[in-house]
Amino acid sequence: MSTEQRVINPATEQEIASVAVHDLDETNRAIERAAAVAPAWKKVAPVDRARLLRRFADVVDDHVEELAQLEVANAGHTISNARWEAGNVRDVLMYYSGAPERHSGRQIPVAGGVDLTFYEPLGVVGIIVPWNFPMPIAGWGLAPALAAGNTVVLKPATLTPLTALRLGELALEAGIPEGVFQVVTGDGAMVGNRFVTHPAIRKVCFTGSNAVGRRIMEGCAEQVKRVTLELGGKSANIIFADADLEKAAASAPYAVFDNAGQDCCARSRLLVQASAYERFMELFEPAVKGVKVLDPASESSEMGPLITAAQRDSVRDYVTETEVAFRGSAPEGPGYWMAPTVLETKDTTSRAFQEEIFGPVVSVVRFSDEAEAIEIANESPFGLSGSIWSRDIGRALRVARGVETGALSVNSNSSVRYSTPFGGFKQSGLGRELGPDALLGFSEEKNVFISTEES
Ligand code: NAD
Repeated sequence: MSTEQRVINPATEQEIASVAVHDLDETNRAIERAAAVAPAWKKVAPVDRARLLRRFADVVDDHVEELAQLEVANAGHTISNARWEAGNVRDVLMYYSGAPERHSGRQIPVAGGVDLTFYEPLGVVGIIVPWNFPMPIAGWGLAPALAAGNTVVLKPATLTPLTALRLGELALEAGIPEGVFQVVTGDGAMVGNRFVTHPAIRKVCFTGSNAVGRRIMEGCAEQVKRVTLELGGKSANIIFADADLEKAAASAPYAVFDNAGQDCCARSRLLVQASAYERFMELFEPAVKGVKVLDPASESSEMGPLITAAQRDSVRDYVTETEVAFRGSAPEGPGYWMAPTVLETKDTTSRAFQEEIFGPVVSVVRFSDEAEAIEIANESPFGLSGSIWSRDIGRALRVARGVETGALSVNSNSSVRYSTPFGGFKQSGLGRELGPDALLGFSEEKNVFISTEES
């Protein structure tokens, strides 16, 4: 029998809902339902699968505002971010609705016959989502998985289940057949772990912490189960003296404090060339102090609260007062608020400079030249994202090639576009999501040889 879990608004600390914590039997039943409908979903003609995904995108589009308001209340995301996130689910569904009819195999020249390849769906895919971006991360898994002909069970984070549950209802409203996309709420150690151990699940897409990601990979090894891991980050924002310093400084706060720093792509290490350091910091300080940390429901809010009191305590623990250069502001009173905080790093081996803080804290350090910038950026077990600011495009490209990370931006801090691949180097993950090739991660390539020899 399932129990209930309270869902809390992190900006008010008020309970806003309670959702089921599914037990083993219920989780098994959901997985078995997904396995039972998999053969029928696989047989849906590509043109019809495409049409259903487009309809799902349209239904999400009709509910962008509702989904966004749910995320503001459940995750403390600012309303403008939350609208973007709901719109991203719609756009990702629309993008991959073009895929079923283009997911073609090959005809390979061979002796004595014809050789064909087919992309077959894997079967049931289990998607495990963290609390920091509940909607986009759900969409990045479910849209290409369904497009490739798989059925999906999705486990949202226990803290942020509401938008996933609503997406499950909207899928049914759009005509996605019962059982093809199910949302199973509950604990990681129960529901999430069952995705790893249940033999009917053929692939696990996990986004979350490195500690859990390692366990998932170990568990999947048991059945040689396919796995994609999107894990932590400690990305570098590298500012050269020849950059447009005004633009780099004005945008640097949002590169790390967006979503209150609870972003795997947060540029939480700010590397500034020594010759421009003083000028950059002069520009950076008012930019940080200008970040509007407000009630996330307010149209002008640029940063909301952290997700829980425990998360805020963990983030505060990284802040050594002697390193604080300056801070922005945050509301007082209820809610898990923390002001954006800038540390001037004295020691690049410190915990704050090395570990993923997952909160509104950035560490600034000087570098002398290109080689040193690359060296500092790469002194990390992570390699997810990052930015390079320079007017010298040759240099920017040299540095981009030198930094060991999966998603880089030059003269910009954007990390994610649904039409381009996303994923990490080193311990930031395994595999890629999004982009034109995402369906390959949800398909097996089957080779069929047909003899043309006369009998
Ligand atoms: P988490 O690892 O605690 O939880 C992630 C999900 O895994 C949740 O749904 C949780 O319930 C589930 N889970 C927990 N234990 C499990 C187990 N034993 N078996 C199966 N599932 C289990 O992570 P979090 O705190 O929710 O999210 C923050 C982390 O996610 C950060 O490290 C962040 O960098 C990372 N993240 C990475 C990306 C990326 O794309 N690389 C994106 C967003 C977040």
